Amino acid sequence: MFSYRHAFHAGNHADVLKHFVQIQLLQYLNQKDVAYSYIDTHAGAGVYSLDSPQATKNAEFDTGIGPLWERTDLPPALAEYVNLVKAMNPSGKMRYYPGSPYCAEQVAREMDRLRLFELHPADVRLLDENFRKLEAHQAAQGHRPTTRGKRVIVNKADGFLGVRALLPPPSRRALVLCDPPYEDKQDYKKVADMLGDALKRFPTGMYAIWYPVLQRIEARNFAEKLKRLPAASWIDVTLTVSTPGPDGFGLHSSGMFILNPPYTLLPTLKEVMPYLVRVLGRDKGATYTLESGDATTPTKRDARL
Ligand code: SAM
Repeated sequence: MFSYRHAFHAGNHADVLKHFVQIQLLQYLNQKDVAYSYIDTHAGAGVYSLDSPQATKNAEFDTGIGPLWERTDLPPALAEYVNLVKAMNPSGKMRYYPGSPYCAEQVAREMDRLRLFELHPADVRLLDENFRKLEAHQAAQGHRPTTRGKRVIVNKADGFLGVRALLPPPSRRALVLCDPPYEDKQDYKKVADMLGDALKRFPTGMYAIWYPVLQRIEARNFAEKLKRLPAASWIDVTLTVSTPGPDGFGLHSSGMFILNPPYTLLPTLKEVMPYLVRVLGRDKGATYTLESGDATTPTKRDARL
């Protein structure tokens, strides 16, 4: 059950897509002077050392954040994400990569609440430790503390279930990020069930789901299933960096499915996705898809390269 460790994949092309979109969603929530909850159902360790034995095993960051590091022509929205990663690497060398909890901590304001679920015994310990270190660092710098225990709560619990008790949030504003490993094919069903339940409790919430684009049947039907959920609107974006080989080995493509996205997201993706294909694409199979829909109009295929 606990075979997945995100440290092996930190900073890869899937993380680039996920964290860039996550930051855009949080920036949108920041525009209004009302607190929100950020709920991370599958938080991971929070921060990853890119020189660890796990991260260097396949060095997936070399084909993810790596090619973006020195670029001087980043579209502004993508630059926000790259700058966040650069800010945690003040030496200029790419040594640390932020997980989704760290991205959220950096973008969310003091009044916002972070609720983080992680089940892996080692990763939940690392997550807690990473927030402890961050708080000590912030205090030493004279900056606002992350105020663990109030602003940030780490739960060693099943995020699929834990999210229920948090919806709707008191302020009626929230982003739920759901990013399970999908090594167990039951995860596809659990995500859809969780969203069905969450939309009943909190229909106007923003939900962002990361998923791998794979040949297995559960993965192929997954986005279609999410499109049928009773949300007011959705965006489905995928990034493919290369053509899968005959063995089907490795992750070549992944998607972010966003329920109730802000109106700003679609134009941002139209600008950023062709850039990501150009810079992260590894062969002629590199492409992106971008679809959106709402409760009243049929699916729009906004772009397909
Ligand atoms: N969201 C993280 C990020 O972007 O930095 C990465 C998360 S990783 C893909 C998935 C994590 O979910 C793993 O750390 C795994 O231990 C954890 N996990 C697996 N099943 C879980 C569950 N039911 N509830 C909470 N965490 C779970």
